[in-house]
Amino acid sequence: TKATLGNPAHTVAILQKYDFVFQKKYGQNFLIDTHVLDKIIKAAAITEDDLILEIGPGIGTMTQYLAEHARKVIAVEIDKKLIPILEDTLSEFPNTQVINEDILKLDVATLVQEENQGKPIKVVANLPYYITTPIIMGLFENKVPLESITVMVQKEVADRMQSGPGSKNYGALSLAVAYYAEAYVVANVPPNCFMPRPKVGSAVIRLTRHTEPPVVVEDEKLLFDIIRASFNQRRKTLLNGLNNAETIHLPKEELLVAIGELGKGEQIRGEALTLEEFGKLSNIIYKKMQ
Ligand code: SAM
Repeated sequence: TKATLGNPAHTVAILQKYDFVFQKKYGQNFLIDTHVLDKIIKAAAITEDDLILEIGPGIGTMTQYLAEHARKVIAVEIDKKLIPILEDTLSEFPNTQVINEDILKLDVATLVQEENQGKPIKVVANLPYYITTPIIMGLFENKVPLESITVMVQKEVADRMQSGPGSKNYGALSLAVAYYAEAYVVANVPPNCFMPRPKVGSAVIRLTRHTEPPVVVEDEKLLFDIIRASFNQRRKTLLNGLNNAETIHLPKEELLVAIGELGKGEQIRGEALTLEEFGKLSNIIYKKMQ
């Protein structure tokens, strides 16, 4: 096998060769554990037909592994200091392409259209933890055709992705993940699998996109506006959360009627509602807004 960077000594050698200085602001913690890399590749179930989007390749450790299994890997890296390093470490992997860009600014849907004729891709990444939520929400909400997202995230974020009402971890991210995908934790990963070591524990989670959403809504954007509004101010009531939202144009009395139609009262909080109830509420509000 040509993938060699999972070996810590090789990682150190590359970092020294290029005098690389870790950038904290980019959430740089590079994987140095071949077992974890093997687990991620296996969980992502990559075939030789697949186009893989990797977010944040770092020095290309996982990119090498991905390239050995996929048809093509497109890796998007924000740090321009890593670009010459990636040219070096990926020189023997012709089915890789590195884009020096901020993933949050890249039009991934168009990229997939061009590179994969709109066929669903797989996303695999050891994510920069400071922007995990916007990355995942962005992929789902911007309708990027994708089959699955297999990613390393902070352990606490993996917990949030799997939580339901009543849990302190339940929030907008839990609901977005439940709406779009089936979540499954592949492995817990301790800090010593990274260089430098993060302060928190990590987990690999696989999100497999639903073929049909579990609730049917008139307006998906409205559903998520409502979800965000009700979790924006955690200790407030659902009514006040919705009333303070700029995108929901209904007077407070009407909102109260809508909550009543859902079978709930003035005091109910957003964190008590299930995805199904948010779906119903969004359809009630949708009708009232017409
Ligand atoms: N994949 C590598 C590995 O596993 O060793 C590196 C993972 S490291 C946790 C996260 C990577 O994402 C870093 O290389 C960092 O520079 C990059 N990154 C941070 N913010 C980014 C952004 N907005 N867009 C693209 N890449 C980003």
